[in-house]
Amino acid sequence: MISLDFSLAIALYTFIFLVAVLLFWLFSRRQKEKDLSLDPRFIWFCSVCTYTFVNTKEDKISVCPRCGSYNRKAE
Ligand SMILES: [Zn+2]
Repeated sequence: MISLDFSLAIALYTFIFLVAVLLFWLFSRRQKEKDLSLDPRFIWFCSVCTYTFVNTKEDKISVCPRCGSYNRKAE
């Protein structure tokens, strides 16, 4: 009787531990995907050729890689 309760406790402990690891893995994965998603500040839209490009270095004026024109960030 006692050994049965003990093995049941071990099984429950293992199950709870596995659920906790699974939840932590899902949470960290979601956090990673969130980090990978692009910040809308870095997405530029060219007003001359309507080309959409990404520039993470500039924050006010960016050069369009397609037509070479300067684009100012719309506010
Ligand atoms: Zn352009």
